Amino acid sequence: MGELMQQYIDEAEQDLLHTYNRYQVVLDRGDGVSLYDIEGKRYLDFVAGIAVFALGYHNAEYNDALKAQIDKVIHTSNYYYNVPAVEAARHLKKISRMDRVFFTNSGAEAIEGAIKAARKYAYLKDGTTDHEIIAMNHSFHGRTMGALSVTGNPHYREAFEPGIGNIRFADFNDFDSVLACVNDKTCAILLETVQGEGGIYPVQEDFLKKVRALCDEKDILLILDEIQCGMGRTGYWYAWQKYDIKPDIMTTAKALGCGVPVGAFLMTEKVGQHSLTAGDHGTTYGGNPLACAAVAKVLELFEENNILEHVQEVSAYLEEKLDSLAAKYDFITDRRGMGLMQGLVFDRPVAPLINAALENGLILINAGTNIIRFVPPLVITDADVDEMIEILDSCLKTFQEQNA
Ligand SMILES: *Cc1c(COP(=O)(O)O)cnc(C)c1O
Repeated sequence: MGELMQQYIDEAEQDLLHTYNRYQVVLDRGDGVSLYDIEGKRYLDFVAGIAVFALGYHNAEYNDALKAQIDKVIHTSNYYYNVPAVEAARHLKKISRMDRVFFTNSGAEAIEGAIKAARKYAYLKDGTTDHEIIAMNHSFHGRTMGALSVTGNPHYREAFEPGIGNIRFADFNDFDSVLACVNDKTCAILLETVQGEGGIYPVQEDFLKKVRALCDEKDILLILDEIQCGMGRTGYWYAWQKYDIKPDIMTTAKALGCGVPVGAFLMTEKVGQHSLTAGDHGTTYGGNPLACAAVAKVLELFEENNILEHVQEVSAYLEEKLDSLAAKYDFITDRRGMGLMQGLVFDRPVAPLINAALENGLILINAGTNIIRFVPPLVITDADVDEMIEILDSCLKTFQEQNA
């Protein structure tokens, strides 16, 4: 590493609160599926800023749309209407098949809003306030206090207890454990359609359908967190669309603005009419014209470029290649995922492999200690998959020799 890069890293470690163990690289710019550090070294990017930059870097149409909006107005507050918000909401409603949209600044805030909507819905029914939410073990929903309270990983929560309270945790894909948590106070069941941080676990169709039926029977709201698995990543706009069900509330973020911080929670008209109302919820920035111009352009470009069809095709190729790596190395025990959200499961920690890949010009990330996660830009090609596999395979070979 050059002196300048080291200087920036040292300075960052002095000035920024140390809440991340960062990889030893200072990134400077991106182009397509490549990122470059400040020394000009190229990296093939299979992380996309954690499932965010779906369209690839330096997309001219996306950049031009943002520049045009910057020259008009960036922010107005939610007390006034603006055209980008109307366009973004119209488009988002169409692809999500939901009815009402609230734009947020992040995924965690979308979860907060979903929780508030669910509590208000239950409150309007019986006038009491001690309703419960069922969330899943090994889930991840964000770092704010409400989102943390429904995150099924005690390690993330421990130092920050008590959370918002009245949360029960069931086992993902285990309907009996959900049933065991249900009572008269249950107002919502919350789950990721594909668990991300928890280790890339897709929901099982049978489980999802049983949960949906249970919610219908008891007027419990089904909240699906599509923050990571949504926005075309699985080959569907939203992963639940693969199954013959629909949530009552849904959260989306990450790729929604392709890098401009924006999220949303959406609901059916029924929930919209019987939950949050004027004065119940708000945000200064949420859905500002710049963020919404990004959302509107992203959704337009997804459609123009047939991103969903592309993901279905290229992900089949990625799965095949990952499966052959899994077959080749004994320490890889499984491959699982949906579309371009894949996990390669190891019988040991993957940190050394991720560092070796970075050294060799490939950006990868983990999901838990033993899983390499693949969440590349959705525009990757078969050739990008080949390049990724070639680098990873050579790292795996070295890893095997070192571990022999
Ligand atoms: C990333 C993520 C969140 C939190 O989103 P932030 O924008 O980081 O607040 C919530 N849920 C899931 C499933 C996520 O992957």
